[in-house]
This record gives sequence, structure tokens and C-alpha cells, in this order.
Amino acid sequence: MELLSVKDVSKSYAANVLALDNVGFSLKAGEFCAIMGTSGSGKTTLLNSIATLDAPSKGQILFEGVDVAKMSVDEATMFRRNNLGFIFQDYRLLSSLTAKQNITVALSLLKKTPAEIEKRVTELSQKFEIASVLDHYPHELSGGQKQRVAIIRALVKEPKLLIADEPTGALDSNSTKTIMQQLAYINQELHTTILMVTHDAYSASFAKNIYFLKDGQIYTTLKRDLTETKKDFQKKISDVMLELER
Ligand code: ADP
Ligand code: MG
Repeated sequence: MELLSVKDVSKSYAANVLALDNVGFSLKAGEFCAIMGTSGSGKTTLLNSIATLDAPSKGQILFEGVDVAKMSVDEATMFRRNNLGFIFQDYRLLSSLTAKQNITVALSLLKKTPAEIEKRVTELSQKFEIASVLDHYPHELSGGQKQRVAIIRALVKEPKLLIADEPTGALDSNSTKTIMQQLAYINQELHTTILMVTHDAYSASFAKNIYFLKDGQIYTTLKRDLTETKKDFQKKISDVMLELER
């Protein structure tokens, strides 16, 4: 079954601004999907609608068959808490808390025991190589380290869907590579479904399929086939982006 099914979704902010225009696509559990498009094409509006942070004007957003666009504010809060993990371009760590406190601060809301949480934080921090900086504050961390803390924060609760809005947008090329390899690991080994917005062809090449938005509509899609190298896939992605920018 589809984990997520977006059906005929439109969003207008004002009479003359159609941010999304009949968008439809679906995402199976276990997929790693990227959404690309030039600035203003509707990427954030689409992601925020799926995340129940914004409401579409029309259409359905089915998550495991339930229309999240019709949820009340309280239902949407519970839905996000129980199902979604978020990572953002600007990390969104709380500056007055250590890395470890940032990771665990919201977990008391979930049905997990302190021992379960401790075990998972330890495992993930070792895997993503931030165990030695767990007691550091965000200003003592590099951009790549901050994003890894944010990734672990999103993963401890084992979300069904990890939503990433430009996760490498503020990182240098080395950190971008590390973060993207880690997201690929999370998808392949931890079986977390990932939906990522990016305008970087290199980052997008880690995804298995890509939807390109133009003027609020799906312009085209790309799927990486098994015989294709990541580099070849990246080239195809760049070609579509060039076409969109013309
Ligand atoms: P992207 O993330 O691809 O850059 P957005 O989803 O942010 O695109 O925006 C899509 C379109 O909707 C743009 O034309 C933008 O100006 C418009 N838009 C986005 N948010 C708002 C808002 N809160 N009010 C009015 N217009 C908006
Ligand atoms: Mg955006």
C-alpha cells in the first residue's frame, strides 16, 4: 500500500497566486523520493501541506489512507508527533541546549522508556559519529555535526516518514556528501521512507525517484534504474534543472 498519496492538490494563496496546481503523486513505504524545481515552483508549499503545516485549497493528502488535510489542529499535532521526522536547511537546534538535550527534549511526549531512548541515542550517535560531541552546545559544532544531531533528533522516534527541506542547503561539499550518504543509509538500512526537497542535483542523485515541479505542477519525473550510476543519474537531473531554468 502507498504510505502517502497526494491527489489533485491545489493551493492558492491569493486569487492570482496558484502555488500548487493539481499535483498528484504517491510514495510507497521504503522509498527515497526527492522534489526539485526552481525557486517559487511550489516545493515548500507541497512539503508543508504534506506535513500538515499548511492546508491545501483543494484535493486529498492520504497518509496510510487517512486524509491529513482534513485533520483538526489537535489531530494534526498528534499525527506529526507520531509519524513524521523533520530536518531543515538551518538545523533548528535550540542554542541553550546541548546536542544530547536537543535530541531528547521532545521525547517525553512519546511512548518510549528512558532506557529505550538512551539505547537508541547511543547507537545512532556512534553510527553518525557525534558521540564525542553530545555534551557540546550548537555553537561548538560544525554545520555537518549540527545536521547530524538534527537527523538523530528526527530518527529517535522512528518516524514513518522523514521530511527534509533542503537538508544540505547550508553545507559545504564534504559535509553534503557525508549527510547524503547518511540519509541513504537511513533509507536502505533503517528502512525509513524519505521525502526530500532540494535544488542540488548531487544531493538529489541519492534519491531513487524525483518529481520536478514547475509553476505548481509536476513537470516531469525521473527514476534511477538499477544499472545506472549515481553520476549518470546526476547528469540527467542537471539536464532537467537546466531545462526548467530556461
Ligand atoms: P519554492 O519552495 O519552490 O521556492 P513556494 O512553495 O515557497 O516555492 O512558493 C510557491 C509560490 O507560492 C510562489 O509564487 C510564492 O511566492 C507563493 N507563496 C508561498 N507562500 C506564500 C504565502 N504565505 N503567501 C502568498 N504567497 C505565497
Ligand atoms: Mg522553498
